[in-house]
Amino acid sequence: MQRLQAFRFELMPTGEQVRKMRQFGGLCRRVYNDALAAQQKNREDSGKFVGYAGMAKWLTGWRNSAETPWLKDAPVHAQQHALKDLERAYKNFFEGRAGFPRFKRKSDQRDSFRYPDRKQIKLDRENGRVSVPKLGWLRYRNSRTVLGDVRCTTLSQRAGKWYVSILTAREAEQPVPVGPAVGIDVGVARFATLSDGSYIEPLASFKKHERRLAKYQRSMARKIKGSANWRKTKARIQRIHARIANARADFLHKASNTISKNHAMIAVEDLQVRNMSRSASGTVAAPGRNVRAKSGLNKAILDQGWYEFRRQLEYKTAWRGGFFVAVPAQNTSRTCPCCGHISAGSRKTQALFACVNCGHEANADLVGAINVLRRGEVQLSSEGLELARIACGESVQSGHSMKQEPTQVHCDG
Ligand SMILES: [Zn+2]
Repeated sequence: MQRLQAFRFELMPTGEQVRKMRQFGGLCRRVYNDALAAQQKNREDSGKFVGYAGMAKWLTGWRNSAETPWLKDAPVHAQQHALKDLERAYKNFFEGRAGFPRFKRKSDQRDSFRYPDRKQIKLDRENGRVSVPKLGWLRYRNSRTVLGDVRCTTLSQRAGKWYVSILTAREAEQPVPVGPAVGIDVGVARFATLSDGSYIEPLASFKKHERRLAKYQRSMARKIKGSANWRKTKARIQRIHARIANARADFLHKASNTISKNHAMIAVEDLQVRNMSRSASGTVAAPGRNVRAKSGLNKAILDQGWYEFRRQLEYKTAWRGGFFVAVPAQNTSRTCPCCGHISAGSRKTQALFACVNCGHEANADLVGAINVLRRGEVQLSSEGLELARIACGESVQSGHSMKQEPTQVHCDG
């Protein structure tokens, strides 16, 4: 079984390298935006979308034209990759997964570019440095060993710091999953409740920084846009955002590690988180109801990163040879785990479940987790997979390791 893994480190670039990375990021953004504009024009003229091969021809033309000769300053592979990104953005749009591709702005402060050709990347693990075309050796904060063969490398900037993400592949034995099956219920009061009764407290990372964030945002609003002080405050705000993101990533990885390590089968609700977190404000003509309450809940949902948590659980379970099952969420919080009676009246409060039929009382989230586990077991056995076999340590070809890689990756070679 091949295992893909991304290793991310903070870079320690020289001033010259920072200048170049900014330039390359800007030129990749420029290629992306120019191609997007050309696509829009082409669509108006002929109604057709031009695929990657066609866009790559445009790029060759731009790089060789007398008007934009400086495009050649950036590595061509990275610019080609920007076109692949655009193609994917269009595909996501065509297939209903995302909105129409948008132009990238410099102020997004999210510059990144990728070296997709592994033959051009050199990695010096011992000294913690990586070499890529046009930048040379870049030192990084070597916090752990990179395992496997390098596939591609992405350089990205966030809040003024540069990072390298090294994607590798390696052969790993199909592991034998261990531990009992577990159902998980996610919520606002408790981040996750497990069917064995344990639970994980939410991380209030956003709340903790929220007041500071609001303070600087107010202060930025008072300053003259574009002034030195305005920019200083803006950088400070971006640093707070980065800190929140780091704390959240750390929290989610720890939680998903612990759970996937200790359970051979994980069942979760197939929650439509996107629907739950969609704007509650409605339109001017038809304003949404409970806007304040909903936006509070939305923020809590987004703050806790359930989507990301689920994604991590899924791929980490697959890594360990376990099973990940998403079950329909309908009535999981209204079904009595004792007698099976379904009633909305059994959910007394946000926290308390008390069956109107048999009187069984329990924490409402725990009831949800138990129901999720049972549905997951039914779903697995209906696909002919016996949990007993997993429990005995027999190696089973997993039909549920849907994704073996942590992220969608696009590398050449
Ligand atoms: Zn009951």
